[in-house]
Amino acid sequence: MTKRVAIAGAGIAGLAAAAALKSFGFEVDVYEQSKEPREIGAGIYLKENSFAVLDSLGLTEGLSKRGVRIQAARIVDEDQRVVVNRDVSQERLVVTLRSDLHNSLRDRALELGVRLHTDRKVVGAASEGTLYFSDGTQEDADLVIGADGLHSRVRDSLDLARYKIGLGDGATRVLVPRFDNEGLFSTEHWSGQLRVGIAPCSDEYTYMFIIGPERERRATRVPLDTAYWSRHFPHLAEYFEAVTPELSVHHRHHFVHCDTWVKGNVAIIGDAAHAQPPNLGQGAGVAIAAAWELAECMASAPDTPTALEDWETSSRPRINMVQRLTTAYDILNYKWPRSMAPLRSKLFSAVSKSPSLGSRWEFYWRGGTVAPRQLGNTAPEQ
Ligand SMILES: Cc1cc2nc3c(=O)[nH]c(=O)nc-3n(C[C@H](O)[C@H](O)[C@H](O)COP(=O)(O)OP(=O)(O)OC[C@H]3O[C@@H](n4cnc5c(N)ncnc54)[C@H](O)[C@@H]3O)c2cc1C
Repeated sequence: MTKRVAIAGAGIAGLAAAAALKSFGFEVDVYEQSKEPREIGAGIYLKENSFAVLDSLGLTEGLSKRGVRIQAARIVDEDQRVVVNRDVSQERLVVTLRSDLHNSLRDRALELGVRLHTDRKVVGAASEGTLYFSDGTQEDADLVIGADGLHSRVRDSLDLARYKIGLGDGATRVLVPRFDNEGLFSTEHWSGQLRVGIAPCSDEYTYMFIIGPERERRATRVPLDTAYWSRHFPHLAEYFEAVTPELSVHHRHHFVHCDTWVKGNVAIIGDAAHAQPPNLGQGAGVAIAAAWELAECMASAPDTPTALEDWETSSRPRINMVQRLTTAYDILNYKWPRSMAPLRSKLFSAVSKSPSLGSRWEFYWRGGTVAPRQLGNTAPEQ
């Protein structure tokens, strides 16, 4: 008999898991609390680990065409020095609109035959394979997946989280109309404990993530405090001026650590399992890769608990490492004393040029996949 899967949450992780499991022949139902699941207006970085799955789902071509393939990833410090300059022209790094990724996964899942039930709020789960809903109903399945995000009810009802910590900084995400003279670069600009990332993400839009300490009210204010940000990044003033206030959204960075991601016939995936600050641009990427891996394990193991154990054993070390690195980068940046800024530049420049440390960092920056071929450290000139 075909095995049935019930997924809580139709975010990127839930939809990727739904499409992957349906591709392997499972019956899949997704239960989403909102009436119309959608992603906020911002960009998202997709790297090799996501593309390995998007290839199999037939989504790579469309997403790459509508998004922007980045040629170099850079960090520029407060003195306008290029601290890191990585040529990524030989690997797939695409920045696209979040809504495009979300809609593509949803449409593909529906085409494959996934059933999406909206306006269904999950309030908990039982390890035997049951989802409980706010209207008092329940659904049983051979596999239950909690893909219900940072504040996961599935995770918390099974007491899986050891830590859910709000970090000391957060990001405002915005889209601005794309400037004519923009190159195909992703650039993170530093000014003390403040950071601004800029990357084109479609023919029309450029994506910006604007990061500052949560304790500093002007740094977290939405709509964006244009005067404050322009004072710290005078060379980016025209970008801040171009922000559409109503399209801005601010979130504090979080870190979720669980003792285990599985209990009986239940697994948690995505931010529910491993929410992380976004510095490696991998929260969704590792979830998409893990979704496919979960489907493979389910297809090959004799029963659900064995499949889930195999899945956690194979995917977790890689994801843990990505999460640790991105969190360390986050804390280092929002705690770094301004007076020692030149030292930070030297440190990151040295790490990026070090054959062992630099290539380790790049490996996890890609989500733990190998680049198609070994590349030098210098990006093409602007
Ligand atoms: C500033 C920032 C930039 C980022 N940039 C990148 C990037 O470039 N690349 C990348 O890979 N990742 C990035 N990430 C991380 C990425 O956005 C997240 O890891 C990813 O979106 C998480 O997806 P999810 O499906 O696990 O959770 P969510 O997106 O939170 O989705 C959860 C879904 O479950 C639903 N839900 C919640 N509770 C219930 C319930 N009780 N019942 C039913 N449904 C429920 C929600 O409505 C939602 O639809 C970034 C994150 C931030 C904050």
